[in-house]
Amino acid sequence: MAKTFKDLMEEARREVPEWSTDRVRQHLGNGNGYVLLDVREKDEYREGHLDGALSLPRGFLEIRAEQTLPDKATPVIAYCAGGTRSLLAAKQLKDMGYENVVSMTGGYTAWKNAGFPWKQDRQFTAEQLNRYSRHFMLPEVGEEGQAKLLDAKVLLVGAGGLGSPTAFYLAAAGVGTIGLVDHDVVDLSNLQRQILHTNDRIGMPKVESARLTLTALNPDVKVIGYQERLSSENIMQLIEGYDVIVDGCDNFPTRYLVNDACVMTGKPNVHGSIFQFEGQASVFYPGKGPCYRCLFPEPPPPGAAPSCAEAGVLGVLPGLVGCVQALETIKLILGVGKPLIGRMVYFDTLSMELRIHKLRKDPNCPACGTHPTVTKLIDYEEFCGLRAGNGADAALEHAAQSA
Ligand SMILES: [Zn+2]
Repeated sequence: MAKTFKDLMEEARREVPEWSTDRVRQHLGNGNGYVLLDVREKDEYREGHLDGALSLPRGFLEIRAEQTLPDKATPVIAYCAGGTRSLLAAKQLKDMGYENVVSMTGGYTAWKNAGFPWKQDRQFTAEQLNRYSRHFMLPEVGEEGQAKLLDAKVLLVGAGGLGSPTAFYLAAAGVGTIGLVDHDVVDLSNLQRQILHTNDRIGMPKVESARLTLTALNPDVKVIGYQERLSSENIMQLIEGYDVIVDGCDNFPTRYLVNDACVMTGKPNVHGSIFQFEGQASVFYPGKGPCYRCLFPEPPPPGAAPSCAEAGVLGVLPGLVGCVQALETIKLILGVGKPLIGRMVYFDTLSMELRIHKLRKDPNCPACGTHPTVTKLIDYEEFCGLRAGNGADAALEHAAQSA
């Protein structure tokens, strides 16, 4: 005989302890290990929920429970709006092997009526819910992560080969504020790799062309262009207010300037550089790992290398490296995964070999070491080309020039 609703409720009550809102509040306040599970629909959760509660609508319980709650021994406090759905959900979880599940009587309504604290997450528009739906499905991103992305401010140094793919993907992902520093205008010879720009924008400032492309892709994104050359005079002012700095520059003076300014301000520097068929990317995070000067303490002497125009670069290569930079930036913003701090990913595109080098912080580093000698910003002479050999890893030296 089919079970009635009443039968199901009685069955659940026999197996699932029900806790009052007072008891839950007390339990949470005691620093006990637990998972708070909100089994209401997403739109109910969005309007307000208990602080720290995970959202897992009852309809998705079987599909997502093991992903959301991997440890079946962790105590779970389930709640819904009034206490009925959470009781049934708790019973379901018990049937799935969760050992310690309770249901909160009276649910969120009783909690809120008792005057206990609750929180409301960022409210997304219908368009945003659709636009970022693939992010919302990932528990590592979700609405909380998307809110972090929308609130994040990222400064890209260079709107060229590396800056193009980085900016594209950051804008697509919904990074809310993207600053771009580039003094240059679009040139026909850029279009072989600088995919932000188009043929009809030749002669237009790159920052303006970038703004047109990025806002057309995602109107959520605020694009701020700085059509100026980065120097010791303006860099501190430009990076102020940004959370992450992405270095996609094409010359050594700027690379050292960005490194030193990031070390001085403690900002993460997502590094990328390319040369002909080879590229590299890393994250230099002051206080958490080495900086660029830990690897290359001083820039090579001017004239020690071929000119940029002579060196050349394969069109797709900045796409690879710039995408790694975008990815690392997003990981930093979300606080998920293992960032490329203390590691350098190195691409050799002709052999299609990808290597990851461990990098060590140098205690004698002139910028971030125990007795730094670089205590103010330096404008090195403009020059171009390969890093002259210093006996360190040849592969890293090779890849030190960017497009
Ligand atoms: Zn250093």
